[in-house]
Amino acid sequence: MMHDGLMNYIGGKWTEASSQETFPTTNPATEEIIALAPRSTADDVDNAVQAARSAYKAWRLTPAPRRGEILFRAAHLLSERKEELARLMTQEMGKILAETRGDVQEAIDMAYYMGGEGRRMHGYTAPVEMPNKFGMAMRDSVGVVGLITPWNFPVAVPSWKMLPALIAGNTVVYKPSEDTPATAAAFVKVFEEAGLPAGVLNLITGAGDTGAALVANRDVRVISFTGSTETGLRVYTQAASLGKKVCLEMGGKNAILVLDDANLDLAVEAVTWSAFGTTGQRCTATSRLIVQKGIKAKLVEALEAKARTIKVGYGLDETVNMGPLVNEKALTKVEKYVEIGRQEGARVIVGGTRADMGQGYFFMPTLFDQVRRDMRIAREEIFGPVLSIIEVADLDEAIEANNEVAYGLSSSIFTENVNAAFRAIRDLTTGIVYINHGTTGAEIQFPFGGTRGTGNGMREAGQAALDSFTEWKSVYIDYSGRLQRAQIDTEAILRDS
Ligand code: ADP
Repeated sequence: MMHDGLMNYIGGKWTEASSQETFPTTNPATEEIIALAPRSTADDVDNAVQAARSAYKAWRLTPAPRRGEILFRAAHLLSERKEELARLMTQEMGKILAETRGDVQEAIDMAYYMGGEGRRMHGYTAPVEMPNKFGMAMRDSVGVVGLITPWNFPVAVPSWKMLPALIAGNTVVYKPSEDTPATAAAFVKVFEEAGLPAGVLNLITGAGDTGAALVANRDVRVISFTGSTETGLRVYTQAASLGKKVCLEMGGKNAILVLDDANLDLAVEAVTWSAFGTTGQRCTATSRLIVQKGIKAKLVEALEAKARTIKVGYGLDETVNMGPLVNEKALTKVEKYVEIGRQEGARVIVGGTRADMGQGYFFMPTLFDQVRRDMRIAREEIFGPVLSIIEVADLDEAIEANNEVAYGLSSSIFTENVNAAFRAIRDLTTGIVYINHGTTGAEIQFPFGGTRGTGNGMREAGQAALDSFTEWKSVYIDYSGRLQRAQIDTEAILRDS
């Protein structure tokens, strides 16, 4: 069978890897090879970085509103191509069409938002100490930035990085996940057609070694990474040793807290889709249900019934609710955790096995009851359709349980009590907090990111996204036309002027 040959995009040209080696990208529902992608070496990475360096000279001087117009054109093209991109994404990484459409929509929203930054990107002025002097702080571009992204949001996550980087006047080298190079190439094509000058955005495909070469490249000043905790920490360490700025987005172990007074129907919907949407492979997925004693039996019964109605299958089929896991490794990891949970004494009440479709990496939606807070399935990221149910006595215990894990991305509480809701807002120590809503569904105009082991204090999206990709430049302008010396001169100057 002939496969599509994907290419790198370097300096405005689609090219093969210098080694001419490739790797396959596979449909996780059918196990068919979709395309072969360049296995890029450190030389390819360096070519991309040098192309980005050359393009930086003109791009940084292109007025930001003009840069914004290109992003608006990209937004428009993405809207036109939404269905095509969504279908490709479903085929390449498995999540259902409704979700892959949402993934593309995030990029559209981000392109409009960051395109608008071309006419904002506010700095500020502040009073200064001398009479004939003016002071201001403005954002400046950094240079060449490196983006390393995962497969679970193969358009949305790169857009959260690429668009703020571009509007701020940086040039980009983008290394997508080895599980989604075809979607990445289709995404980059949109920017080519939107009129982005050659070399401003460069694509290099490959696996971890390609990513590591990008991190190691001395001409790349910023690395923005989303992925596993283990890889993220490795990237952080290596980049830090070279003095680079790093933005990290890593694991999660997100919880929904349900209090006795919660609206049961709302909670059931939210828990189900936060846990099993995207087959549990979102960084913001709910993997713990922390439920108060009085409502637990009713809630668990309803969740069990709901989980049994979830149709698992190929995401291109619009009647399917949950697609496969991304690859065999992910499937094996989920199976391993289900086994660990059983051995720890938790009880599977639904699922717990592969879903037999003849082929593909399918797993059933799985509910674990009788989970203790110290169990591994209550603490470690599984990244699959597995929900651990933890019973607590009251709000205090629920908050404590939420906050004690190593991650701090997203959390949610279901309650009709306004006092409990505000206490939760105050005391939940995650980067994102929801009230009466699942743990997913962040909007691009607010900061996205997590506390503790989820990140390194940086945020994506919103105005905060610009912090990763800009340096502050403080400017002092002396218009007195003479030597001004600290306080002593002030009186004289005031007298004379
Ligand atoms: P996952 O196992 O879920 O795919 P990873 O964290 O391994 O998550 O991958 C996220 C991204 O990091 C991917 O683009 C991957 O190729 C890249 N990557 C993996 N290892 C390294 C590394 N040592 N240095 C830089 N990037 C890496």
